[in-house]
This record gives sequence, structure tokens and C-alpha cells, in this order.
Amino acid sequence: MLKNAARLARLRAENFVKDRVDYGLVQTDFTKDWRKQHWSLQVQWPCNYDCSYCIQGFGIGGGRRRLPAFKMSAADRFLVMNKIAEHLDEPMDNLFIQGGEPLLFPEIKKLLSEIQIFKKVTVISNLALDISPLLEVGRERDDLQLEVIGSYHHEFAELDEYLDKAKRLQDAGIWGWGDFVDFDFSKSLGYLEKFDEAGIQCKPFRFVGEKDGKVYPKKATDACGGHQVETVDCFMTYVLIAPDAKVYNCHSKMYRNSGHLCTLEEFPKGFDTGYTRCEEFGLCQPCQYQGMKVKKIPGEEPRAPELLQIQVNDT
Ligand code: SF4
Ligand code: SF4
Repeated sequence: MLKNAARLARLRAENFVKDRVDYGLVQTDFTKDWRKQHWSLQVQWPCNYDCSYCIQGFGIGGGRRRLPAFKMSAADRFLVMNKIAEHLDEPMDNLFIQGGEPLLFPEIKKLLSEIQIFKKVTVISNLALDISPLLEVGRERDDLQLEVIGSYHHEFAELDEYLDKAKRLQDAGIWGWGDFVDFDFSKSLGYLEKFDEAGIQCKPFRFVGEKDGKVYPKKATDACGGHQVETVDCFMTYVLIAPDAKVYNCHSKMYRNSGHLCTLEEFPKGFDTGYTRCEEFGLCQPCQYQGMKVKKIPGEEPRAPELLQIQVNDT
């Protein structure tokens, strides 16, 4: 127990230090290379859970159920990505596949079987559904490093059942690690104990978002608090593909379905520049706080935010 208490204390201390990322007046110029960015594909928004702390509901009123409810997309729409190989000397490092819940996506096996341009594909799942597509692809593809990160969500999941599936994935050689959101501090130590007993590696995930009227990390309050907005130049270190195959560099914009840089067919249009102008600093997602660099624009003043319009698009 002491060991885990020390782990959590260290995690929280490290987070505190990391929260001191300076997103203010950044002097450095960056050379933007989309090959090196964090690539993430959200196969669909629907999820079998509805966690109260889900970051996808942050800042958009009625929670994640208000996210644009795209119909489930065909895998072929995403497999257009394979054409990006024309721009590559060698495969890119890693693609994270997430949602919503990726195992709800009916064509997850086809997608995992045919995706080509990454050395490694990491599926982030809550493990509540049938994991056989993951086990099958793990067996069938020796040209791809498949990895599963299993997120335990205490409001909906039964921990023993979750750990059983984690062990099956671990035995199959495709387990990365487990995580849970360090949300209910009084219970986090108990979860770590259970992971340890089961022999499952766990990396608790720090809580980001809004809790009791406060934004976490606290240092992100002016970027994420929603009280005022400001026009800035923002450098983001993400390539985010939405369920309708629009490509964004910002989670906030992706969740609101506005401000995409291109579609997958058009990629890398829009990703070849460094900073992009943004009128919405103040409505940023806390989850991307450490991947953003912001340059203030001389003469720009904060202003009141307009009511957020979430565009729903059923394509
Ligand atoms: S499982 Fe993940 S995506 Fe689904 S509601 Fe919970 S936090 Fe959100
Ligand atoms: S909303 Fe925030 S994180 Fe997104 S582009 Fe604008 S300033 Fe950057």
C-alpha cells in the first residue's frame, strides 16, 4: 500500500510540475512536421458508457451526448489514410484509435487489418465489449505492432471483469497498459492495489476537466475556463481525425465540428504551416493543454465568448 501511495503522490506532484507548461508568450519558432505529431483517429462518437468526467463533454453544455452524432463511418473512409504513404520515406510511428468506444465500430477488424502507414496502432478501449477483433488481428498481422490500452471507468465497469479481459490481451502479447482517471482520490489507491494483484500494469491518468466549478489543471483556467476568449496564434501538436474524416489539429474544434484544416482526402493541406490563427483561446480543451503553444498577438484583447454553436452533421 505504501508503494502505491508513493506512486500516486509522485504522479500528482509530477502533474503539478507539468501543469506549469508555459503556453503564454512563446518566443521559439517551431518547424512543424505532421509525421511526428500525435495521430489520433476517432472512429465514432457513440460510447457504451457515459462517464460524468468524460473530457469529450467538457465545455459543450449538456455533456458528451451533445457531441455531433455522426453515423458510424465505413472503414474505407479512414483507409484513405493509406494514400499518405506517397508522402513518406518510412512508416510513421503510431496511430491511436479511439472514440467513443472503438469496439462499437462495426468495421474495427477491417480497419485494423488494412491500415498500413503506421508501425504501431494503439486501440484505446474501455474493454466492456467483445475483444475478439483485437485478439484476431493480433494473431493475424505480424507486420504491425498492435497495442491495447484499457481504460477502467469505475462508474460503469466491473473491475474484475475488466481485469480478466486485460489478462487475456496481455497473454496474447497485445496489452500496453491499463489506466483509470484519478478522479475519486479516495478510491484510486484501491484500484492500484487490484491492478497489482492481477499483475496488470497500470498508469493512472490525471484528471483534467471541470470538477466542483474548477478547471483542472488549474494553470489552464484562462485557456480553458470559457469566461473570455482571445485571438491568438496557436501551434498544436496533433493530427486528429474525426468520425466524418475531417482532420483537425485541435480537440476543442473537433468536438464542436468547426474549424477543420482539411479532409483525409486532402491531407496534408493546412498541416504544412506552423502556427494557425485561432479566435477561441479560452475555449481550449484541458486534455491538450500540454500540446499547445500559443503566441499572443499584440493589441488583441480578451472579449466575452459568444454562445457556442455545436454544428450537428449527420454525414
Ligand atoms: S468510456 Fe471514455 S469515451 Fe466513453 S463516456 Fe467514458 S470517458 Fe467518455
Ligand atoms: S481552441 Fe485553443 S487549443 Fe484550439 S487552436 Fe484555439 S487556442 Fe489552440
